[in-house]
Amino acid sequence: THDIHIVGGGLAGSEAAWQLAEAGFKVRLSEMRGSGEKTPAHQTDGLAELVCSNSFRSDDAEANAVGLLHQEMRTLGSLILTQADRHRVPAGSALAVDRDGYSQGVTDTLANHPNVTLVRERVDALPEGPAILATGPLTAPALADAIGGATGAEALAFFDALAPIVYRDSIDMEVAWFASRWDKGETKDYINCPLTKDEYLAFHAALLDGEKTPFKDWEKDTPYFEGCMPIEVMAERGVDTLRYGPMKPVGLDDPRTGRWPYAVVQLRQDNAQGSLWNIVGFQTKLKHSEQVRLFRTIPGLQNAEFARLGGLHRNTFIKSPELLDPTLRLKNRPNLRFAGQITGCEGYIESAAVGLLAGRFAAAELRGQTLTPPPPETALGALLGHITGAATAETYQPMNVNFGLFPPIPGRTKKADRKRMYTDRGRAALATWLSSPQSA
Ligand code: FAD
Repeated sequence: THDIHIVGGGLAGSEAAWQLAEAGFKVRLSEMRGSGEKTPAHQTDGLAELVCSNSFRSDDAEANAVGLLHQEMRTLGSLILTQADRHRVPAGSALAVDRDGYSQGVTDTLANHPNVTLVRERVDALPEGPAILATGPLTAPALADAIGGATGAEALAFFDALAPIVYRDSIDMEVAWFASRWDKGETKDYINCPLTKDEYLAFHAALLDGEKTPFKDWEKDTPYFEGCMPIEVMAERGVDTLRYGPMKPVGLDDPRTGRWPYAVVQLRQDNAQGSLWNIVGFQTKLKHSEQVRLFRTIPGLQNAEFARLGGLHRNTFIKSPELLDPTLRLKNRPNLRFAGQITGCEGYIESAAVGLLAGRFAAAELRGQTLTPPPPETALGALLGHITGAATAETYQPMNVNFGLFPPIPGRTKKADRKRMYTDRGRAALATWLSSPQSA
């Protein structure tokens, strides 16, 4: 017998299991790897396996939102961070790990925990009792169907086309301007970056030459929809394809020339605060370093700072802002919580962080209490807030933690100072939250 069933022993499920077990609850942790089942990306049977890079990204808690998230998770006794720290390898200011030692550490800790029963099994139906679903971007098909049935979605797995996201305050508005197409002055929903013919031709040539991330074998079979085609694939179709597609200039008068430019790059607001803007139609499989270099050749984006770079991979996630309550429960079936990438966060550490929160919310509930979510000034709270409410459900896309998800710092401040202000404010907010009786 168990108090709660956790499905999926990845980053999120392992962290959730640890938090609950440490709180004294009996956990059944079901992981299909090790029972003869595989996912298209995992290579081992180890818990919390890192499927690709061995990095948890920046560990700088003073100037980086990811680093702040690490720090908060350490404060809350995270198993993933404990094992990552124990198996750290040199990587400058990043937290990178020996992937096998780290995963073995997570596996041993949970397998030997008196409150955890680790069962190697594939789960095909939604559990009846209290449960956390943490089956990740590669959720096995039968369970994905069951989740689709409960959430009303026809299909959950699709090719996830990610366009880069830029911090608004890094866009040069001396060059770019606000306008909607055929703007009559009322709606100015887009930021537009103008390109001359020479700039456009150079950009097109660079796209064709740019180094791409290769498709994995299992990704090759997944077609992309016309609407999610990578820009470099569009560029290959002809020199003008982009100029008739996402870079179409018609109806966009550049206030500095009074004319339509040869081509434009448009950015659309991505979060309620208006601090993040995505480059419309610019989903891409270019290498991240190539994206930064190439997108900074676009006039107006020469100093662009990216909250997220573009990408394309198969993914499974639910429309959390619509479907989940503030403590990650499925609104129409509150005995089920979701955690990890399936909630629409993006990244190892974000997945583990949402697992940590799901575990703590569930533990409080089993105790007959309600845990107040961490405040939005903390990295945990900012990420949770995005998932469970602040994002727009219709256009919901996987998201890394970044300062654009935090409430803005009021007033004008230098960029370097501002990062510090975010993290100082976050630490203070976490301390206040931890000292309140509702965060026990
Ligand atoms: P997972 O870690 O995938 O855990 C889910 C677990 O559930 C798996 O162990 C799986 O076997 C199990 N499972 C699935 N269905 C069932 C079922 N029906 N019954 C029982 N068990 C089940 N993020 C980064 O930060 N850096 C990267 O480099 C990176 N590379 C990625 C590469 C690929 C190909 C993919 C798909 C994603 C990548 N991500 C990366 C994104 C994301 O951070 C990881 O996918 C992360 O592992 C998500 O954590 P999770 O706990 O939500 O899911």
